[in-house]
Amino acid sequence: MFIRPSWSGCAFLAILTWPAAQNAPPQRDQSPGQISYKSASDADEKKTLLLKDFHPVSMLHASAHNVDRAKYYVIDVHNHVNDAMRIDDHMPPERVVEIMDKTNVRTVVILTGMWGDELQSVIDEMVKPYPGRFMVFSQIDWSKIDDPNFSQEMVAQLDDAVARGARGLKQLKDLGLGVRDKSGKLIAVDDPRLDPIWEECGRLGIPVSIHTTDPESFFHPVDNTNERYEELTEHPDWSFYGPQFPTKESILAARDRMFAKHPHTTFVALHMANWPENLDYVSHLLDSLPNVMVEFGAREAELGRQPRRAREFFIKYQDRIMFGTDNGMDEAMYRNHFRWLETGDESFDYWGYPGQGRWKIYGMELPDSVLEKIYHKNAERMFRQFRPAALASTK
Ligand SMILES: [Zn+2]
Repeated sequence: MFIRPSWSGCAFLAILTWPAAQNAPPQRDQSPGQISYKSASDADEKKTLLLKDFHPVSMLHASAHNVDRAKYYVIDVHNHVNDAMRIDDHMPPERVVEIMDKTNVRTVVILTGMWGDELQSVIDEMVKPYPGRFMVFSQIDWSKIDDPNFSQEMVAQLDDAVARGARGLKQLKDLGLGVRDKSGKLIAVDDPRLDPIWEECGRLGIPVSIHTTDPESFFHPVDNTNERYEELTEHPDWSFYGPQFPTKESILAARDRMFAKHPHTTFVALHMANWPENLDYVSHLLDSLPNVMVEFGAREAELGRQPRRAREFFIKYQDRIMFGTDNGMDEAMYRNHFRWLETGDESFDYWGYPGQGRWKIYGMELPDSVLEKIYHKNAERMFRQFRPAALASTK
């Protein structure tokens, strides 16, 4: 009989060597060929696989329901596609519209529109050529913070932006964590110099979409207990841990005082008020301040890992939550969000997994009436507040 160098050859070799092992003295509770129920004594030494090389494949046989098009048309209230700050790579506008058409996204809100000529170029490229498909927001020019009449300048800049076609004001997370005046002091979110700007937004009936702080783990040490260890290692400047930063709680408290001070202005507390890890807090915020709305841009992972609590929250606050993604334009990106909102699928990847943390998400299977509000009705109600007549009475 010939032994070929094949699978049967290997088996033969194994049979030849096995009796040698049999001669070793058997361990107390493990005879040869038996399966031990104790951990290997060298297990800890052997667990040296690098985190970056660990890519487990789920063996779960769970059903997957792909949702190619949203059940109701969508307004994505948190996007940066072809914006003025060039946050994302530029994409041909026809391709953007093609992605939207394929996924039932009717309108995309481009938040980072800046002001003046930069704003105008977004309006000319995206807003005007595709009526009803894009909206753009303006921003505050922080380089002017030390001007003696900063507030009036910014109100005039905002009026100009809205006259050009902007339909809201966006504030990045730099307010509270990065913007300083010439004295070196951080500008607080509730700084009174900003009050006239928030009031003007209320007068014009345009929303203020504001990003304040970041995930809770960004305020904790970047060590082996941090659930976003890999993300913070990739982006060390996203860590706000240390005495040089105010606490997350104190910045959010300043934001919420500012919201309360301007009850006639609608604020969109972006990223689920930036505390989806603490939905009790977000519930309290929405209960106490009727002028606040939320959206879930880049927080699918946080909400998707707590599907029962999140579903209860989405149903209770169905008139206050809007659809936002804060992700690069991609059909698969939108479809992943639809699957999370519409189906009851279990244990699947959030969009961008494992970028935010090594956990899976679970679908919420929201009722149709809730989906419709979140997909577009709430955003439409908010944007109907715009008062062009107020703009005409400026100056
Ligand atoms: Zn954003």
